[in-house]
Amino acid sequence: MDRSIAYPVTPQGVPLLSSFAHEPMPKRRPKTPHRAVAALLCSLIASACSTQSASSVAGPTPKPVPAAAPVKTATPAKPARPPATRAESTRAFALPAWGAFDSAVVRGTRTLTGEPGPAYWQQRTEYHLEAELNQVSKRLTGHGTVVYHNNSPNTLDTLYFQAYGNLFAPDAKRNTQLLASLGGINFTKVVAEGSALDSTALGAGWTVSGTIMTLRLPKPLLPGTSVELEFAWHLRIPPDGPRGGQDRETYVLSYWYPQVAVYDDVNGWQIDQYLGNAEFYMGYGDYDVALTVPEGWLVASTGTLQNPDEVLGNETRARLAKARAGGAVVSVVGEGDRGAGKATAKGTNGKLTWRFRAENVRDVTWAASSLYLWDATTASVGDLRGHGVPDTTMIYSFYRPDQRRNGWSESALYAARAITIFSRVLWPYPYPHMTVVDGPSSCGGMEYPMMTCIGGDWNARTLFDVEAHEIAHMWFPMQVGSDEKRYAWMDEGMAQYFQSVAIDAQFPDADDVGENRRNYVGAARYGKETEMMRYGDKYPDYNAYGIASYFKPATVLVALGGVIGDSTLMQGLREYGRRWTNRHPMPNDFWNTMNQVSGLDLDWFWRTWYYETWKLDQSIDGVVRTSPDTMAVTIESKGRAPMPVLLVARGAGGATTSLVVPVDVWFTGEKKVTVQMAVPSDFTRVDIDPLQRFPDTDQSNQTWPR
Ligand SMILES: [Zn+2]
Repeated sequence: MDRSIAYPVTPQGVPLLSSFAHEPMPKRRPKTPHRAVAALLCSLIASACSTQSASSVAGPTPKPVPAAAPVKTATPAKPARPPATRAESTRAFALPAWGAFDSAVVRGTRTLTGEPGPAYWQQRTEYHLEAELNQVSKRLTGHGTVVYHNNSPNTLDTLYFQAYGNLFAPDAKRNTQLLASLGGINFTKVVAEGSALDSTALGAGWTVSGTIMTLRLPKPLLPGTSVELEFAWHLRIPPDGPRGGQDRETYVLSYWYPQVAVYDDVNGWQIDQYLGNAEFYMGYGDYDVALTVPEGWLVASTGTLQNPDEVLGNETRARLAKARAGGAVVSVVGEGDRGAGKATAKGTNGKLTWRFRAENVRDVTWAASSLYLWDATTASVGDLRGHGVPDTTMIYSFYRPDQRRNGWSESALYAARAITIFSRVLWPYPYPHMTVVDGPSSCGGMEYPMMTCIGGDWNARTLFDVEAHEIAHMWFPMQVGSDEKRYAWMDEGMAQYFQSVAIDAQFPDADDVGENRRNYVGAARYGKETEMMRYGDKYPDYNAYGIASYFKPATVLVALGGVIGDSTLMQGLREYGRRWTNRHPMPNDFWNTMNQVSGLDLDWFWRTWYYETWKLDQSIDGVVRTSPDTMAVTIESKGRAPMPVLLVARGAGGATTSLVVPVDVWFTGEKKVTVQMAVPSDFTRVDIDPLQRFPDTDQSNQTWPR
């Protein structure tokens, strides 16, 4: 067999992060037996341990274990048929055909190797937006221009806009419960190229259906040309809507302006309704925003503050400069500093206008509060600019004093830590800041470019988990701009996986990987899961959506690392990022990239784990001694999921041997194989996958003797 299967050493590539051990961070808990097993397997399987040696894991070094034979790849003792060829595997476990993607390959906008095609194109938008927050009426009033560039080869008669605010209209279709339905977004002006448009279904004009605005242009938008539109609107800010809203004197303004829907080369316009559960698909563009709030309030936003001298007090600016210089977390605004003429400048008519600019982002979200404290520090992002010296980004945390009980004193430090970890294992964080804001509890943890809103109850331990998850989203989907609504696993699964990477670096005893796996296996065992390749709003319930979008895809990436090796997995993810940053990858682009980087035909893996709900259930059916130091081990694949079999035999004296049965043995439809395995002469037991790298649904049959 030519597939190189590395038996995993650690569950999630943790040793990549070993140097973080030297940074001063909160307490580490003692090493667990689990980690000692990892070390044992590492010493056992030399080929899998090169750069990811468990001995480089932070913390106390596990006791050395006598080395045993290197990993071997099994040849089935008596295969019923000759081993499968690649063509056979392709037939048995082919990916379902996807006509729209295949057509894009023919047109040259996509490829079968996972790179954007030579004819790849993407739309682009420039937003100039003004908004005023009225804290008495709890309304946002907005006005702005939107310049839309048609880089597609097609002439567009109609544009579509996301009017997310209509989720709160009384008659809106929803699959999420709201605290209140208050009316949606009201448009008071829509102008195209200087001509005011009416709300009409006849000729040029606009109509709104649910959360989608249809705008029929006065004249068609030709390829390579642009159109300027102007909007005025207002909306009632929801008290605690999904992913933002108002909580006392704190406002998180998300989805607050008309945003152009995505028109892409594979699916055309993506105008699925926003129903509250499944998330977003957003195009890239530049934003200039002017946000007017009461004086004395602090504003946090996507983008870089353009007028600090106009809105910040002298002391605030001095402390920010101190934070920017590096070092410990600086309290930029403390409890005694808040208010106009202190933390902020004095305004005009009691108001101040904060201006931000953000380039090449999918969205702008902002938060404002009279109660916020402001902490700031820096985080190393590695060599972002390629000049041989580590670069830094600013880290901001905005929170109300009573949120200290939820661990918020640590929030800036946690954000810095997560940014640095992900910059190292993925690629340098590219944005000027990462901001964590305390918001309405419905935020839970919600991601926006350069920002996350975190609400609800946390503690100094779990606040790290949620920050790590949301900050992983700064890579997926903020940079790698997938369609979250249709393929939620492409961003949530990645964030869930990298959350574990960060937690393991920070709290090595936490076993976040195990939690993900148990959540998935618990559903899979009872046939309660739904496939990952399903639109996010078409799951039977939220639990099924959660399993398929978070726990299963994270677990599947851990398993993929077990098949291709963790370093190849990371290399593939970095290459996927290099190809698709600030672009719109489809599932096939991810899979094709991983196929190419690993040099393997992994279609069987994608089909099994992404399209199907096949269970993995590998069982040891019998073990017979065939010589003083070999055993014939019979394995049955009782589930439909084909996977390699990771066997570890142990002797009474502690010696171990291991063997990997390649996945190909299952491709012919065979359900049972017998392999000859070298075992210690004082053999006592053999286990399948003792580290649980693969999500087997029945552990009770993975051990012999039972
Ligand atoms: Zn998420």
